[in-house]
Amino acid sequence: MERWQKQLSDSAVKVEDLPFVSGSKEYLKKLQKVSEIFPIRINSYFLNQIKEENDPLWKQVVPTAEELDDFLSAEETLDTDPLNEEENMPVPELVHRYPDRVLLMLNNQCPIICRFCTRKRKIGFPGIVTRETLRQGIEYIARHPEIRDVIMSGGDPLLVPDKELERILGSLREIKHLEIIRIGTRVPGTLPERITPALCEMLKKFHPLYANLHFNHPAEITPEVELACNRMADAGIPLGSQTVLLKGVNDEVEIMKELVHKLLKIRIKPYYLYQADMTMGTDHFRTKIEKGLEIIRGLQGHTSGMGVPYFVIDTPGGGGKVRLLPDTVVEYNDREIMVRNFEGKVFRYPQPTEKSPKKNVPSATVVSSPDKLCEMA
Ligand SMILES: *Cc1c(COP(=O)(O)O)cnc(C)c1O
Repeated sequence: MERWQKQLSDSAVKVEDLPFVSGSKEYLKKLQKVSEIFPIRINSYFLNQIKEENDPLWKQVVPTAEELDDFLSAEETLDTDPLNEEENMPVPELVHRYPDRVLLMLNNQCPIICRFCTRKRKIGFPGIVTRETLRQGIEYIARHPEIRDVIMSGGDPLLVPDKELERILGSLREIKHLEIIRIGTRVPGTLPERITPALCEMLKKFHPLYANLHFNHPAEITPEVELACNRMADAGIPLGSQTVLLKGVNDEVEIMKELVHKLLKIRIKPYYLYQADMTMGTDHFRTKIEKGLEIIRGLQGHTSGMGVPYFVIDTPGGGGKVRLLPDTVVEYNDREIMVRNFEGKVFRYPQPTEKSPKKNVPSATVVSSPDKLCEMA
């Protein structure tokens, strides 16, 4: 057994195994209930990174009674499948929501179970993703020439054993119209020793391969994680990161800035910052939309543009991701645009002169009155 397999088998999966949890019998009973609805998993590597109750890692993986309250109160706005994934599955466990790319679930096991997971409805339960669903998914991609990009997801595809993963990648690579393969994984940040030289050697054979990793807090970037990410990058896999904006975990500009700096240092490009989905049992993690915009405003221009992720909402009901930007346009018309820079200064930029007036000019957006007006040369 390799070390990562041992770390996985030594996971906390029961209320009694949870770190830094105390409380009345009643409270523990409630947690027991929670764990029956949404399973617990914290592998022993990640357990070791947790330093105390309520720290940013603890909050991501240790269930609280709020989960159950939220589940029981069953607010109309919350859903077990907020992105309507199940209705966008032409074959089981493959989501086809965009014209040219699909999401293929390879399994439904994860190195840790995140309490805010958007797929809480299926993660950690046996028998959802099977060899048969996978076969149908690959066959679907083969039958649809418009699909040029597949995202291997789950669950976590890097928990699939090397041999099996190699077989899956091999069958995907037989599909001529499939251009790129992406891996969506939280393994490098939560079970880093799984990223073995042997795994990377195998993956290398299936380029062009991309990976989007999942990091929410700078404390997740340990020496072990650095090594894992270096191995993947050295295998020629461009690395991106997806982050979920979580109340009490990373909803501060300074934390996010530290996170993106640490990511860039280990060759990971921050890709998406997600507004937390409206998943039943996760309401206590949700932040106001303004928070995400404030974070982007605090990064854009203030630090490397490479480090600024796209802030997105995954639209309820399955409309896909929509990118949100802080307003930079103060005024916009036929003659000029007035924009605000990262310091809050307003600049006027004249349009090129045109003979015939353009149609469909967007109406002016005025955010607030300009505090300083600077002319651009
Ligand atoms: C996020 C997502 C994708 C990929 O979106 P990109 O913007 O191309 O990264 C594809 N399919 C589904 C269902 C998704 O949720």
